[in-house]
Amino acid sequence: MIRPRAVADGVVAFPTRTPTLPPATHTQSYALGTRRVLLVEPATPYADEQRAFVEWARGLGAEIVALVLTHHHVDHVGGAEVLSRELGAPIWAHRETAARLPELAIARHLEDGESIGLGEQRWQVLHTPGHAAGHVCLFEAELGAVIVGDMVASEGTILIEPSDGDMAEYLRQLRRLAALGARVALPAHGDPIADPSQLFAFYVAHRLAREEKIVAALEAAGAAGSTDLFVVPSAYADTPRAAWPLALLSVRAHLVKLVAEGRVRTDGDKYWMS
Ligand SMILES: [Zn+2]
Repeated sequence: MIRPRAVADGVVAFPTRTPTLPPATHTQSYALGTRRVLLVEPATPYADEQRAFVEWARGLGAEIVALVLTHHHVDHVGGAEVLSRELGAPIWAHRETAARLPELAIARHLEDGESIGLGEQRWQVLHTPGHAAGHVCLFEAELGAVIVGDMVASEGTILIEPSDGDMAEYLRQLRRLAALGARVALPAHGDPIADPSQLFAFYVAHRLAREEKIVAALEAAGAAGSTDLFVVPSAYADTPRAAWPLALLSVRAHLVKLVAEGRVRTDGDKYWMS
């Protein structure tokens, strides 16, 4: 893995090894700006990778304004405390992220729509819940670059868990990202994505196609109804069985959405078409 790597004008990627969802093995951190920089995703919990990150960050020869968390998941925040201390930089995150990390000192709550000036660059904060309640993206209109965290990935898949995720909100926020007309998306996992609006739209279409398979399974079950577990084999027939435990979480997230929309009803255990 090449690091550091310039991925846009005044934006550098620095991937570090993290305990993330296979096949991904790393999380991309990004330095935004040149003389004053934000470091997004202080991700790695491993001491050797943290040392490499600190060496790289110091070598930028810039004022490190803050470490930014896109969201609270373990493969995004594992280095936050150590890197904040070593680099003498505060941690910024959305308040919903801060609420999920009570052990971390979050110095500033990022708000949807606010803009952070870094020399020539102005990064707009977008609160994009769905994958995680406090998820934020950062968009620089001149560069046409958007930091997308775990909204999409060019390596591996994005999991929407019913416990903290929200499928309806996730799809809404993907459509919002597509409307930005960005020239490049910089995800936490994998390479930069050129002309990402198509990919955002593809993610929406893919999720909705999966949702229709869940609907078809419930229609087939008829008056007997079906549990979430029994929907998985037909809705995910194209997916290796090893992935079915994760697929079950995704099914649950879709069922929450379908119930909220009134298309499906439930007694808390079984599900029927309305
Ligand atoms: Zn995540």
